[in-house]
Amino acid sequence: MAATGYPVLILKEGTQRTYGREALRANILAARVLAEMLKSSLGPRGLDKMLVDAFGDITVTNDGATIVKEMEIQHPAAKLLVEVAKAQDAEVGDGTTSVVVLAGALLEKAEKLLDENLHPTIIIEGYTKAMEEALRLVDEAAVPVEVEDDSVLRRIAETTLASKFVGSGPERDKIISMVIDAIRTVAEKRPDGGYDIDLDYVKIEKKKGGSLLDSKLVRGIVLDKEVVHPAMPKRVENAKILVLDAPLEVQKPELTTKIRVTDIEKLESFLEEETRMLRDMVEKIAATGANVVITQKGIDEVAQHFLAKKGILAVRRVKRSDIEKVAKATGAKIVTSLRDMKPEYLGYAELVEERKVGEDKMVFIEGAKNPKSVTILLRGANDMLLDEAERNIKDALHGLRNILREPKIVGGGGAVEVELALKLKEFARSVGGKQQLAIEAYAEALETIPTVLAESAGMDALETLLKLRSLHSQGYKFAGVNVLEGKIEEDMTKINVYEPVLVKKQVIKSASEAAISILKIDDVIAAAPPKK
Ligand code: ADP
Repeated sequence: MAATGYPVLILKEGTQRTYGREALRANILAARVLAEMLKSSLGPRGLDKMLVDAFGDITVTNDGATIVKEMEIQHPAAKLLVEVAKAQDAEVGDGTTSVVVLAGALLEKAEKLLDENLHPTIIIEGYTKAMEEALRLVDEAAVPVEVEDDSVLRRIAETTLASKFVGSGPERDKIISMVIDAIRTVAEKRPDGGYDIDLDYVKIEKKKGGSLLDSKLVRGIVLDKEVVHPAMPKRVENAKILVLDAPLEVQKPELTTKIRVTDIEKLESFLEEETRMLRDMVEKIAATGANVVITQKGIDEVAQHFLAKKGILAVRRVKRSDIEKVAKATGAKIVTSLRDMKPEYLGYAELVEERKVGEDKMVFIEGAKNPKSVTILLRGANDMLLDEAERNIKDALHGLRNILREPKIVGGGGAVEVELALKLKEFARSVGGKQQLAIEAYAEALETIPTVLAESAGMDALETLLKLRSLHSQGYKFAGVNVLEGKIEEDMTKINVYEPVLVKKQVIKSASEAAISILKIDDVIAAAPPKK
């Protein structure tokens, strides 16, 4: 048979396929519905959502990141938007709601252009140009922050925690001091004045008991574990640390296997064999020069005994995430099989010691090869308080990291969006042609943020927007909506409402890319749902 040149798609029965404009409209609608839903949670006066899962469990929150994580979303285009929002949260820990709202607005404006018969390709090109210009304009509008000054960092952390922290005065001060100390320890200055910060180096360990004021910052790693055997040393200086992801046990025969032992000598030789193997393992470890063993797996009692005899301190069943942190901090390579052990795989710390914390014992690893690792050891009366404190600390750490990485801010409360919109409209005129329409639409989409914030404050949205536009054209680049007092502010940074440029740029990038990806799809092939 001669080839026809047409590919033949064979689809399962029940598969749904939508093409071209129809597919595009359906995707835009789905993404807009999601954005519409999140709109009312934007900003400090955002309303709560009540989420009920399949088991009837209820979450009440106005945190965009939590909402998108908990919601069960079916439509692929809306799912794509959720993924982008989650990535935003994972990367900068902020701006999730803004991303979804802005992407929704970009798609709403795009739909209007489609109605006017503008081709999706033109819209995509216009949006891409607008995004690039917007990113440049954010930098242009930004003002520097004096991050060398601890009191500035303190004020930033206070703003992040203002609406959040349960505790009052001294507890909050304590938390902020620890957070600043921790972040200063892990921060590495770049030649351009910003800092590189890897928050993996900051570990938070919670231990019930005492009060928040008993919490402290440890320069090193704290493991919520005891030394495994009482005869082992509790303190090792100049620690050479073997970090293991392998058991120090002899593989036991399957439970169902019966070993027939006919005489007592055979039993003895069987046990002796096991003991010999364990002793060999320990000998091998000692031969590398290790005096501390930290393993993710178990350690047999007989092996513990031999380790103790060699003066080796050992800790077992350590969480994977902690194993990784220990390896990173001490410069160890995680060994997964005793056969691959080499002295150069050992990590180093000045001191490994078991200490009493409240009623329990914990293992402290201090003066590690890489001095950048720290642990915030949190104390508190109950689990709820500890969890809340941990969340607050993470928020503050993210907030400071975002500013330290790029020490510049722009006005919040919709200020920067109005500024960008104004400048983008000028830019659109300079581009001209059909793309001009798309760039103008992009600018209008940005104005959704101040509009939604004004609505949440009970203000007249249109009137507010007109006033803001006029202020911005007079040069008030940070004029925005003071949501809490329901009025316009000439400079949002004066009332401490600002956003790190890093976050704002990420919001612009994520939202634009999500909208553009959705505009690019013109064919949806959906498999039939499985039959019940
Ligand atoms: P996101 O998940 O996007 O961070 P939020 O609900 O935290 O969403 O809202 C962030 C928006 O609210 C930003 O545009 C920010 O500038 C604005 N905002 C925060 N606090 C205020 C305030 N007091 N007045 C006006 N706008 C504010």
